Amino acid sequence: MLNIVLFGPPGAGKGTQSERLIEKYGLVHLSTGDVFRANIKGETQLGLLAKSYMDAGKLVPDEVTINMLRSEVIKYDSPKGFIFDGFPRTNAQAEALDAFLGELQTSITLMVGLEVEEAELKQRLLKRAEFSGRPDDADPAIIEKRIHVYNEETAPVKSFYEAQNKFVAIDGIGSIDEITQRLFAAVDKNI
Ligand code: AMP
Repeated sequence: MLNIVLFGPPGAGKGTQSERLIEKYGLVHLSTGDVFRANIKGETQLGLLAKSYMDAGKLVPDEVTINMLRSEVIKYDSPKGFIFDGFPRTNAQAEALDAFLGELQTSITLMVGLEVEEAELKQRLLKRAEFSGRPDDADPAIIEKRIHVYNEETAPVKSFYEAQNKFVAIDGIGSIDEITQRLFAAVDKNI
């Protein structure tokens, strides 16, 4: 299986680039943010719980997120692989993912990190708010909080994969097509 973690701060382009990757490599796209938003829309108990954290720009607790991710992964019968978008966001999630994939006799192939500087992220998120309908994109204070949470809790996850020689950084500035080409090159070199 080809299992890719697409990593990067909010607004780095993970969702957009995931679409390109799933198309080229035939992977299943798992975005924890998308699953949470679908649950909010469906007014499930999980959605209700996740909403309070998401609206505040905080991470949903690890246990909830890990259980949710597990139940998503096992929905698929013999997939070619997964692209994990927005997961793992903490070291505890990365450890749980490794253990879980191990049980399924597979592992993470590669983590690709999209690198974009903070000022650009803030601009992109505010622009995205115009059409995303996401309340967490529309409020500069929440954007600030999400970037802070990323720097404090999520950025260290990079070291987890670096230690396994699985991390590669990609310049996330440029046109969508340019960034896609960089991503394809990084994936092709590592499979
Ligand atoms: P995203 O769509 O990836 O920007 O995620 C939106 C929000 O969903 C985040 O700000 C978190 O509140 C929540 N979320 C998504 N993925 C995770 C995760 N792996 N761990 C904890 N919270 C998450």
